[in-house]
Amino acid sequence: MRSLFVCPICGGALERGEGRYVCPRSHSFDLAREGYVNLLPANRQHSKTPGDDKEMAAARTRFLEGGWYGPLRDVLRALVERYAPPAPALLDAGCGEGWYTSALAETVSARGGRTAGVDLSRPAIKRAARRCPGGEIGVASVYHLPLGDGSVEVLSDCFSPLAAEEFYRVLKPGGIFLYVVPGPRHLWELKQVLYEKPYENEEKREEYAGFRYLEVVPVETRFTLPSRQDMMDLYRMTPYFWKTPKAGTERLGGLETLTVTAQFRVHVMERNGTASSSVISNQSTDW
Ligand SMILES: [Zn+2]
Repeated sequence: MRSLFVCPICGGALERGEGRYVCPRSHSFDLAREGYVNLLPANRQHSKTPGDDKEMAAARTRFLEGGWYGPLRDVLRALVERYAPPAPALLDAGCGEGWYTSALAETVSARGGRTAGVDLSRPAIKRAARRCPGGEIGVASVYHLPLGDGSVEVLSDCFSPLAAEEFYRVLKPGGIFLYVVPGPRHLWELKQVLYEKPYENEEKREEYAGFRYLEVVPVETRFTLPSRQDMMDLYRMTPYFWKTPKAGTERLGGLETLTVTAQFRVHVMERNGTASSSVISNQSTDW
């Protein structure tokens, strides 16, 4: 089967065969037992614990499986329904444990399309591969995506690093970019516990070269975390985990439950340019 991924060494098309991926120049990449492929070039293999560590992946999996962020996942699926063409190829850039990826893959597959996900974190990717058996899951950097130019119709990025130029390269002209960022008061009640004087996130709408805005969709949901484990799992997922003064962490540790508001913004953008494939289309219904 022709893969959505390309060879990270020569850029050639990859065929997914029995237990491995191979390019025309015979570069070969084994499929791991869990069902993912490692497409990091050898000179990038050795960075110390690239991506998120094991404990963080476990905490995030527990939290996401609690379903608290379900409303965001539903909105992402609806946006794919609304904007994606039939049989789309979708890339989830920085897919983590694949909690969003697997849901998007369902929507895409129902429309006859295909899904790929990449992340640098191996513990996360193992979980993503198990969660998305029908998709292609690989270890790779969002800054050096193992995908061809103009190869996907939809690209999603949920709380992952933004690599706008690289996303522009792999998206087809007219393709859709779904970029999830925190809203101004995302996890406000948690920040009130952690900090003496919490600040709101800046609400911004940056223009990225080669993209135009279609809409910004707000998503808000409020829920009560019923146990200390749930609170700590959420805390661990946030950047605050790394920069909160000890007193703040202790205050959180002293709570039994926490009611918190999650606030997201889904920036929906279209990649500029006309789809060149329409020029050579033999479906002459429009003219
Ligand atoms: Zn190759």
